Formats: sequence, structure tokens, C-alpha cells
Amino acid sequence: MANVLVFTELHDGKVKPVTLEILGKLTGNTADVAVIGDIAADQVAELAKYGAQNVHKLKGSNLDKYSPEGYSNALAEFIKSKSYDYVFAGATSMGKDLFPRLATKFQAGLASDVTNFTMDGGTFAGTRPFFAGKCLAKVEITGPKPHFITTRPNALGMNPSPTAGAGTAADAAANAGEIRAQIKEIIKAASTKVDLTEANIIVSGGRAMKNAENFKILNELADVIGATVGASRAAVDSGFAPHAMQVGQTGKTVSPSLYIACGISGAIQHLAGMRTSKVIVAINSDPDAPIFTKADYGIVGDLFQIVPILTEEFKKLLGK
Ligand SMILES: Cc1cc2nc3c(=O)[nH]c(=O)nc-3n(C[C@H](O)[C@H](O)[C@H](O)COP(=O)(O)OP(=O)(O)OC[C@H]3O[C@@H](n4cnc5c(N)ncnc54)[C@H](O)[C@@H]3O)c2cc1C
Repeated sequence: MANVLVFTELHDGKVKPVTLEILGKLTGNTADVAVIGDIAADQVAELAKYGAQNVHKLKGSNLDKYSPEGYSNALAEFIKSKSYDYVFAGATSMGKDLFPRLATKFQAGLASDVTNFTMDGGTFAGTRPFFAGKCLAKVEITGPKPHFITTRPNALGMNPSPTAGAGTAADAAANAGEIRAQIKEIIKAASTKVDLTEANIIVSGGRAMKNAENFKILNELADVIGATVGASRAAVDSGFAPHAMQVGQTGKTVSPSLYIACGISGAIQHLAGMRTSKVIVAINSDPDAPIFTKADYGIVGDLFQIVPILTEEFKKLLGK
């Protein structure tokens, strides 16, 4: 049995789902959670449901806004005061920024962007995609503990029957230390949608969308089914969508439950970013498009006819 700490981020006061995914996989080990700042009682209860024992609320000056130095200093000091074997976080933008710094402070190993793991006998063994997902590496960490791990959002899945933890919550004094790069302001993206990397459903458009305005039909479908809209690089390079929406080798890596690719051919560089999606639906007018070799469901036809029909049918099905 291992002693584990899971660092959680909050989004609009809510625990990110990837934290619950991690906790659900840690059954049989002791898992605490660390959060910077305050967390509501209902969120502590949610963490407890998935196995959290103690929720440590790290509080101190200069921690009101995220800063890689402040957060890593505060977390490092807290971790040093305990005896954790492993420290986990989601491979979110923050996790990817924070955990390499944290691991460096301990001169310890880091397994990043893990898509699955086991903890047999309290020892971590993970799986991690390499070379744009063409190869899956088995990763283990040696050297001094604690060991650090980030897991890809949506990859582990939720444990349907987790073992509940005590879920006690207490403040812990934290020290942000010296912050050389001050974050002056954090501007929220205009979109209220879940970020692509954490979205459960994604509707993506390719070059076949022809222009930015036509993405309206994807947005309409996305609104009905609670999806986030993505794009291929061809669509981004053509100016139809911003780079933040790009899925693929030089864009974002996503792992949704459902990925609907509209007018996307299925180039290897696009697949690199979405091949771990649980269910892939492709809509393409070319029956020989490579995307169909990876799709679970394929619709051969004109996306401009099919997408609006899907939107209407989902509206009826979901009573919207
Ligand atoms: C180093 C490198 C990195 C790259 N990184 C990325 C990346 O991160 N992400 C990425 O996506 N690509 C990336 N690419 C580019 C990639 O190789 C492809 O060029 C790109 O993915 C193609 O985008 P697409 O599928 O939208 O366009 P196309 O390949 O042009 O495909 C358009 C598809 O739409 C179909 N179609 C046309 N009209 C309709 C219609 N009315 N209804 C339905 N279907 C229709 C066509 O049959 C075709 O299959 C990268 C390339 C390189 C070299």
C-alpha cells in the first residue's frame, strides 16, 4: 500500500474530473488531496466519495493567482513535511507546467501524460504514449521518493464503484516563497465550454468546413450534446479556427468519450491527437478517407447535410 497525494485544481470552484479519475484508480492505497486555497464542502464530499482521506487546503500569501514558482514552492514545502510515496496531478496545462518544476525540486522522477497505471503492491507502473501515439511505453520510476505522475484527462475513466475515504479537510499554512515572474492578470477565454483537453465530447471540423462561418453548424451540434468544438490543422491554417482549437501532433491531445470528425481526412498527425478517443465517428464524403479505418462509426456523405440532421435528431432525443 502506498501513501499518495493528489494535487487538484479547481475550475469555477469545482474539482477537475481528472482528480476523481486518479483517486478512483488508487483504491487500496492511502490518498490525500492538496488544493491551493479554499474548497467548498460539497467538493470535499465529492473527493471523499472517490477515496480522498484528508484534504489539505494550502493557504498563504501570494497564492491567490496561479504562478508556477509560487505553487511549486508551496507544494514542495508541504510535501516535504509529509511522507508521500507518489504525488499525482492531471496532465492539464497547469499540471504540465507545475509538475516538472516540482519533481526537479526533489531531484525525483516524473512520469508525465500517463494514460493508464497500476499500483500493484503499492508500486506504480504506468503506460504512456510516445511518437504521436504510435508506441505505448511502460513506465516505472526509480530513485528517491516521492515520485511524480501526471495523467491525461479522460484517459483513466471514472471508477464506477470507488471506495470512499474519510474526506476530512483542514487548512495547512503554505509559503509561496520568492516569485520572480509575477502573474499580473489571468484572462479567461471567452468560451464557457470545457477546454478541449478535458472535454468529454468533441465535434471537430476540417478543411471541408470551407470558412469560419460554417463552424456555426458544428457549434449548434456541440451546444445540443454538450461538446467542445475542435479543428484540424488544415482548418486552422486556413484561418477557419484559432490554433487553440487544433487537435493533433502540433495541437492538443484529446481523449474524449466521443469524437465526431467532420470533413477531416484522418492524416497521421491529426490521429496523433485524438486516437485515444473512446468512440470515433467520422463524417466524410469520400468513402476511402483514411479516417474511416480508425472510426467506430462512419457516415459517408456531405457534412453540410448530415450535421444539421444530427443536431435536430439529438434535440428530439434529448428533449431540447
Ligand atoms: C509536422 C506536421 C504536423 C502536423 N500537425 C497537425 C495537427 O496537429 N493536426 C492536424 O489536424 N494536422 C496536422 N498536420 C497536417 C496533416 O498532415 C493534414 O494536412 C491535416 O490534418 C489535414 O486536415 P483535414 O483533414 O482537415 O484536410 P484534408 O486532408 O484536406 O481533408 C478534408 C476531408 O474533407 C472531406 N470532405 C470534403 N468535403 C466534404 C463535405 N462536404 N462533407 C464531408 N466531407 C468532406 C474530404 O473527403 C477530405 O477527406 C501536420 C502536418 C505536419 C507535416
